Amino acid sequence: MSCRVRFAPSPTGFLHIGGARTALFNWLYARHMGGCFVLRIEDTDAARSTQEAVDVITEGLRWLGLDWDEGPVSGDATQGSKGGHGPYFQSQRQAIYQRRARELIDKGLAYEQDGVVRFRMEREPVVIDDLVVGEVRRELTDREAVDPNFVIVRSDGQPVFHLVNVVDDLEMGITHVIRGEDHLSNTPKHIALFRAFGVSPPAYAHIPLILNSNGTKMSKRDTGASLSSYIEAGYAPEGIVNYLSLLGWSPKDDREVLSTEEIIRLFDLPQIHRHNARFDVNKLHWINYEHIRTMPQARFNELARPHLLESGIDPSRFSDDYISAALATCKEKIKVFSELPGFADFYFTETVHYDAEAAQKQLTESNLPRLRRLREAMTELPEFNAEAIQQTFKSLAKELGVKVGVLVHPVRLACTGKTVGPSLYHLMEVLGRERVLHRLEQAIAVIEKSCPTG
Ligand code: GLU
Repeated sequence: MSCRVRFAPSPTGFLHIGGARTALFNWLYARHMGGCFVLRIEDTDAARSTQEAVDVITEGLRWLGLDWDEGPVSGDATQGSKGGHGPYFQSQRQAIYQRRARELIDKGLAYEQDGVVRFRMEREPVVIDDLVVGEVRRELTDREAVDPNFVIVRSDGQPVFHLVNVVDDLEMGITHVIRGEDHLSNTPKHIALFRAFGVSPPAYAHIPLILNSNGTKMSKRDTGASLSSYIEAGYAPEGIVNYLSLLGWSPKDDREVLSTEEIIRLFDLPQIHRHNARFDVNKLHWINYEHIRTMPQARFNELARPHLLESGIDPSRFSDDYISAALATCKEKIKVFSELPGFADFYFTETVHYDAEAAQKQLTESNLPRLRRLREAMTELPEFNAEAIQQTFKSLAKELGVKVGVLVHPVRLACTGKTVGPSLYHLMEVLGRERVLHRLEQAIAVIEKSCPTG
């Protein structure tokens, strides 16, 4: 039988990094096994469930590349991952829960009392054979020893979490429940409910909690706890997937920088750790940078695009070759894509805006003859490429009796408006002779205007 797993978030308004990790482990297991990954929105708490809260989850999963395999066909194709399959919504499945509650009453395994429906829980300790935690024997609490029964339908007719969660896992044929260890305490109730419905419970794999680097439990309010902060900051989805996969799992050979395909191939439940995972932001940055640095240029361009557009840069006026060459000079320099507009905007503007402090330092009378001489040399270069440009800087520096840096700084400012950026010779090659000459002339004109004696 092929495996069927699910991610079953409640729409709380954001996707916690721990939730994203739970979704990822389920997806990885499904993809590793060639099984099915189901997305089920546990939205029985109607007051808290809004469309935006659901969108945060579906958009987060899509951004990570965690596609879900089935669900009711929705008219709106944007709701689903493939072919318009929406996720399942518990709010649309109320009739199923009522029927299942009735089934338990009819079997004598639940009863109505004071307007609620209560499940008759066995007065026995429950043993969970967890695939991660091992064998867990759950003793009854004092209260349960007196009365182990619990409510499954509230007086307002709403079925409670334990019932809907189990009914859906049963109806959806879920074979493996992979979820946070905080749900271990619910599992005895869930196992008892499965048995009451006359079926064996699924296999359970309770995955370790994620702690802050100082060992405290990670909560909603901690910075960096929500997936959207990484989306907005422009991390690479494959970097986040890689980092999240290591929060509670590692491959046998302990390698850390892994492509998503490799993780799918290597991922399995026995390698999930039993101890809690620690969120290490430095490691996240390192892994993310390794992915950005080594990804194909086309992928880099694809991830760069929304960040350029968002900052008002529209690269579509330029040729694909120009855009690609420009972005290639940024690839090993930026750590996250939100840095890109500030780093590379000069490629896509006609006029360069100078950093004020740097302009004061570099657009000086002493630099005027140097810039003039450089403009001349740039005009005369037979081939306008990085290597030839670099050679010219070297020989000009020698001729003028200055260090190369003396030429580099004002030219960088003239070409980019900034003091830092991509390698100067390469960015000049990409800009091309015409733009470079124009920018050098602009800088020369600024100096001429401020010191008329030059
Ligand atoms: N809706 C529950 C949650 O968000 C799902 C628990 C489970 O995966 O069974 O924690």
